[in-house]
Amino acid sequence: MKPSAKQASAELKKIRGDGLLRRMIRASPAGAYVTVGRKRLLNLSSNDYLGLVGPHTLGARQSASSSRLLSGNTPEYDRIESSLASHAGHKGALVFPTGYMANIGAICAVAKKGDLIVSDSQNHASIIDACKMSGAKVAIYAHNDVVSLNSKLAMRGHNKFIVTEGVFSMDGDVADIAGVAEVASRHGATTILDDAHGDFVLGRGGRGTSHVPGTKNKIDIHTSSLSKALGSFGGYVAADSQVIDLCINRARTLIYTSALPGFIVEHIAQRLRTPKKARQKRLAQNVRQIHETLDSLGLGIDGTRTHIAPIIVHSEKRALELGALLYKYGVLAQAIRYPTVRRGAARIRISVTAWPTSDELGGGLEMLGRACRRLGVA
Ligand code: PMP
Repeated sequence: MKPSAKQASAELKKIRGDGLLRRMIRASPAGAYVTVGRKRLLNLSSNDYLGLVGPHTLGARQSASSSRLLSGNTPEYDRIESSLASHAGHKGALVFPTGYMANIGAICAVAKKGDLIVSDSQNHASIIDACKMSGAKVAIYAHNDVVSLNSKLAMRGHNKFIVTEGVFSMDGDVADIAGVAEVASRHGATTILDDAHGDFVLGRGGRGTSHVPGTKNKIDIHTSSLSKALGSFGGYVAADSQVIDLCINRARTLIYTSALPGFIVEHIAQRLRTPKKARQKRLAQNVRQIHETLDSLGLGIDGTRTHIAPIIVHSEKRALELGALLYKYGVLAQAIRYPTVRRGAARIRISVTAWPTSDELGGGLEMLGRACRRLGVA
């Protein structure tokens, strides 16, 4: 059993021993009665106080009106969660209202006071917030640097965790997953990967950054957003079933908030079924085109090249000027400044999709070249 599953098992045993174990029931919601399995029950567990969410209004395609722990956990959740678990290569998955809430919920469920979390310096705000809220000691390692990671793990902590993004949202580079996993196993640390930007894009069949050839899937806990490449809404955690059960019992962003409405759950299911191979291929072509052009402009970046490409101009003012000029030339690429990135690392963040044709992208890149030359960036 992995250390993360062992720790979760021990925590669950204690919760069960205290008579506090929570389990989700599957209730088909709406109206005076709900169905749980084959049983029809008078529903005294809903917050649909005015009775607007009735069986004869919009059917199951409506507000859940309660937390998943009360009566908001519909059978459709089971279907998307088992599909997300097999997509991520884990035993279980748990959907949260957003990716932000998935990070807060999962990290605070597993890590607590006395533990050590070692977090990449470029991690997303939701990870930073989660680390703070967990009460664990937090150490920051140099961006994507396994030597720095290894040295930080020498610090004391009851249970140790490493948290990194897969594709970094502002730099577009890819985490050294194999290196992280190797250092983790040396220290008996649990690995947490937020793959909001790599999920459904990279890896075999779009299974994410930890399924990229050459990296073994040794990640213990995956978190991700369903609002980015999947084009739907929500977030999820995938892990061993013990970790998922611990999240059900500890994740405050799951327990104390309303479940997603039925139409979103249905939309997620639909998007999971949507064939994505042709779009992934198209995106890969656009990514190639964009990096070739950036190279020819002398704006190429080191490291793995993905659908996120920063043009680092350093000065905040310059980034705004370049963004405004691009806007004038008909291209939307936003200036990113402090505090989203560190001071002096202001940039234009290009994120490319499968949408533009090669000609459309070529036209935009020509404008990019013109704007960069005019401002002396290229
Ligand atoms: N993690 C990362 C790396 C992100 O970039 C984001 C969104 N910007 C999130 C988590 C949060 O995802 P969501 O928008 O689904 O809350």
